[in-house]
Amino acid sequence: MEDLLEKKDALIATAKRCFDLRLQTNAGGNLSVRLDRAEAIVIKPSGIGFNECTRDNLQVVHLDGTIEPSPFKPSKDLDFHLDLYRIRDDIKAVVHCHSPWATGYASAGIEIPCLTVQTIEKIGRMPLIPLSPQGGPQTDKEISPVFEDPKVVAAVLANHGTIGVGSNLIKAQYLAEIIEETAHIAFVRDTVMLAHGKTAADLPQYGTAADARAIM
Ligand SMILES: [Zn+2]
Repeated sequence: MEDLLEKKDALIATAKRCFDLRLQTNAGGNLSVRLDRAEAIVIKPSGIGFNECTRDNLQVVHLDGTIEPSPFKPSKDLDFHLDLYRIRDDIKAVVHCHSPWATGYASAGIEIPCLTVQTIEKIGRMPLIPLSPQGGPQTDKEISPVFEDPKVVAAVLANHGTIGVGSNLIKAQYLAEIIEETAHIAFVRDTVMLAHGKTAADLPQYGTAADARAIM
């Protein structure tokens, strides 16, 4: 019971942070966390906003798909969340949101480049996952094969949003934030380069002031 309440409270806090940062408005997106003492997760139900999560509306779902009695409708994203926990033991939390800068890239069919040292270190690559063959939102059939690679911790869903996974909710949330920040940086970089007529980044050849003096 303590584990369950702890996880529900962590999910409520993370969802609020995601909402406050404007990474997810309205009732879209979803986040979930694995329980330590049961083969089950806590997940936001359908129709509840990130800012409206409470201990009473969050659902508990077993990894076999059994939903503990709840007056709420399960999320459309439930299947892909469950499958991510099934295929990777190291995944303890999933944050999926429709953050606008990243989803802009996802809607243009452009993979967000990992430009900054932090993104290269923390993420490495953010694969862009296509819509389902029927043209609908991505399901576990499209998402799980990408995350079967244990190095993948973040991905972007074409015309849809982003996924960050982690060993706890705040780590998955940080990835959702880094994805969005990187998309914003990429947009600024591309816009600045275009304004200055550059087709390639003109980065300095030195790392420190001492290096610069040595070159000059
Ligand atoms: Zn979504």
